Amino acid sequence: MQGDPLVGILGGGQLGRMLALAGLPLGIRCLCVEPAPDPPAAPAAEVLRAHYGDPAALAELARRCDVVTVELEHVPADALSWLADRVPVHPSPEAIVTAQDRLAEKRALRAAGVGTADFGEPDHVPGGFPAGTIVKVRTGGYDGRGQERLPPGVDPRDAASRLGAPSLAEGVVAFDREVSVVAARGVDGTVRTWPLVENHHAEGILRTAIAPAPGDTPVLEAEAEAIARAWLERFGYVGVVAIELFQVGDLLLANEVAPRVHNSGHWTIEGAVTSQFEQHLRAITGLPLGDTGLVGPSATVNVIGALPDPATVLAVPGAHLHLYAKAPRPARKIGHVTVVGTTVAERDERLARVGEALAGAR
Ligand code: AMP
Repeated sequence: MQGDPLVGILGGGQLGRMLALAGLPLGIRCLCVEPAPDPPAAPAAEVLRAHYGDPAALAELARRCDVVTVELEHVPADALSWLADRVPVHPSPEAIVTAQDRLAEKRALRAAGVGTADFGEPDHVPGGFPAGTIVKVRTGGYDGRGQERLPPGVDPRDAASRLGAPSLAEGVVAFDREVSVVAARGVDGTVRTWPLVENHHAEGILRTAIAPAPGDTPVLEAEAEAIARAWLERFGYVGVVAIELFQVGDLLLANEVAPRVHNSGHWTIEGAVTSQFEQHLRAITGLPLGDTGLVGPSATVNVIGALPDPATVLAVPGAHLHLYAKAPRPARKIGHVTVVGTTVAERDERLARVGEALAGAR
């Protein structure tokens, strides 16, 4: 790509903001399409205020951009295919559209040789699964919304009709913990993976991501990398992907794929040699991928619902505050804090202090 590349992004939220910020030192500019007024990306990127499928906005992306990407997966499939006929779209529309539908996604994971929970269409598993069943809407559910958990022996079909949208039934996995793998593939097929991350959720929202995942082993890392590679190669994928996983003993089962940069990769801004945001831009503009090595043990805590006192957060050594310029609202992610330590003990001590600083937020 010659000159200063212009990257089109469907979406202008915090992920678009952090992508655009990562592009500035590389001479990469971003043009976002976002219907919401004053979106988080606005101070760092040019924003077209329009819906993701707006024909005039898509025409402008196709005309001006060198490559188009997404910062959210729920964009109209026909907008992606229209764009892909005119300008490179990374990741491919097929990879994005597959990740919009939990059933198609699970089928594609299995086809790529990746383990998942047992699953099926609710009509096909009338007795539910032996360890209990989770019925999930196939599209659009997020942060734990659009799903219902049923005890063993309960028929998932009633829950499916209560959800009121096409859904799938999944067997409950008795996992030890939730982890994720964030990886990237370049246009030349190079794959780079960051260390496995341990994720802690509350009320369906990611609260804390710890990297590397405590107790991480070379065997677990190799398994995570093989899963990421299987997905990336299946789609000839270019860009960053995040795969949320359940760890059961030494086994990793894939739960959900995000065809984009991800909250569990925010720690890479300060905690890794190359951040997920820079890596995504490098990948989609045809630049060499960067080193995914660790700067130090890291953790990210999300700022949810209320703004902390910046001075209290930043009084913690090794703490980095990221605010997204979003109005505080209950359960809304409005920023994050990453701590990096020189040792795990130092990281943990800093993480505890950040937790206290955020507990005082209002
Ligand atoms: P999801 O929307 O698929 O990310 O699910 C939200 C959360 O529900 C996950 O982070 C898990 O904690 C839990 N969950 C989802 N699917 C399963 C499953 N098959 N077995 C056990 N827990 C699950």
